[in-house]
Amino acid sequence: MTPKGRVFSGARPTGRQHLGNYLGAIQNYVALQDEYECIYCIVDLHALTTLESTEDLRQNSVEMALDWLAAGIRPEETIMFIQSQVPEVTELHTILSMVTPLGKLTDLPTFKEKVRQQPHNVNYGLVGYPVLMTADIVLYKANLVPVGVDQAPHLEFAREVVRSFNYRFKTNVLIEPEMISTEYPKVIGIDGVQKMSKSLNNHIELAATPAETRQKVMQMVTDPQRKRRSDPGRPEVCNVFSFHKVFSTPQQVQEIDRECRIAGIGCVDCKKILVENLNRHLEPFRHRRAELSRDPQFVLDVLQNGKERAALIARQTMAEVRDAVGLP
Ligand code: SF4
Repeated sequence: MTPKGRVFSGARPTGRQHLGNYLGAIQNYVALQDEYECIYCIVDLHALTTLESTEDLRQNSVEMALDWLAAGIRPEETIMFIQSQVPEVTELHTILSMVTPLGKLTDLPTFKEKVRQQPHNVNYGLVGYPVLMTADIVLYKANLVPVGVDQAPHLEFAREVVRSFNYRFKTNVLIEPEMISTEYPKVIGIDGVQKMSKSLNNHIELAATPAETRQKVMQMVTDPQRKRRSDPGRPEVCNVFSFHKVFSTPQQVQEIDRECRIAGIGCVDCKKILVENLNRHLEPFRHRRAELSRDPQFVLDVLQNGKERAALIARQTMAEVRDAVGLP
């Protein structure tokens, strides 16, 4: 089958992935491979803008790659690599920064949010982050980027930078990427309030053991109004129920919905059903991950091969970019 286009997506090396990463991105990464030529990048340079320590950076990249592979990324088709290993991206970043007005960058809500989050470390990299992100996409001549609605402004920004570059240098070397609109579900953590995240320690790792998964699920916050077993519950506000909708059968979902409302089922039993379904769902992933982990060289070879294939595209693009700009 001829791919419908080339997809690029990047994710920061956050180490072992959790259910939020899986439902929010990895699952989609796997599915996109059926129709598109895919390039998935572990964006370690982006991570430097906020990391206080880089001690675990390499290991986190490897762990994340392992999870991607175990989840179904097919390295024989898909290019999977680490951003910093193809340094052409930093050169393109520099060139693109010359056609990017500073005011546009400092006006971006994401930049303002970062300034609020880390006022002690408002580094230059934070301002240039969207330019580096643009360089990531266009360096590999990707014409498609899977993004959720909340990230759409970033892609629009990338498109503007590409237009500015092509206009300024009277070329069409760079491709304006389009968005593959993806409704990424917002996965709430076990605290029932905030988005699932490692830094908030409200996550469930994909590679957790069945017992660890059980422990986490049993800690999950449910409907706060349901204080006693005899109180009727409200599945629509319960995070456990959101997970049932993904991992349980339609019949179970219907039953829980009905029984919860009349206090026919208690939260402990409801969670036990979820544990069982979740563990069953994750079993093939865990099995594959354990297999892959037995040969630590395998993932390194995959990343090396991805780097080489990505570098071929990057060198070609940079030759065209330099030529268009008039650099020697
Ligand atoms: Fe949530 Fe299930 Fe408890 Fe209802 S029974 S409040 S859906 S955990």
